[in-house]
Amino acid sequence: MECTHKDFATETIEKEIFDLKFKYKTQVCKDCGAHLRDSEFEKTYMHWLEGVYKDRRDKFQVQCTFSSNLIKCADNFLEDYPGISSTVLMRFLVTVYLNVVDVNENLSSKLDSLLDAQIYDSFLNDKDKKKVNIQFKPNMMLDLVAISEVIDMKPYQIVETAVLKMMTAITSQDKKLREFWEKEIRTYLDIFLKAV
Ligand SMILES: [Zn+2]
Repeated sequence: MECTHKDFATETIEKEIFDLKFKYKTQVCKDCGAHLRDSEFEKTYMHWLEGVYKDRRDKFQVQCTFSSNLIKCADNFLEDYPGISSTVLMRFLVTVYLNVVDVNENLSSKLDSLLDAQIYDSFLNDKDKKKVNIQFKPNMMLDLVAISEVIDMKPYQIVETAVLKMMTAITSQDKKLREFWEKEIRTYLDIFLKAV
């Protein structure tokens, strides 16, 4: 609880996420309405989310649109990783991008400066596009929602941007971008790909 008031009452609070309501009985400040978010709250909330994840997978899917040539490049890349689908690869790309690249200003500005514009633009501007549903785990979906609220982009836009940049880095033959990819990013992606 972030407030410094002293007058509390036990109330049921509602937290809305993915158009669903999480209800929880907790201490609420009578002066400012702040509620206690202790480890018990977090545990119950995550447990509730896991339940939603089991019953409503669709709530943890992000529908994106990608060009056919990007999807083809993803399939080519996956020839070395049999059994992994392009949408699973995309999920990993987004996970690595958000957890490794985007949180490190140095890495993200370096990737942006090295991005092969020719390939990036060909992915972006190809008229032949396909809809792709990417399934995320609860934690990742929460991250996406939180980021989208901060930077005012929809989750699908964050996912599309991340996949576009990462697929450009995978596909390009540019020497500097290749070196950057091998040195800074590849290990993280390999960890996921090998764990499947
Ligand atoms: Zn208060």
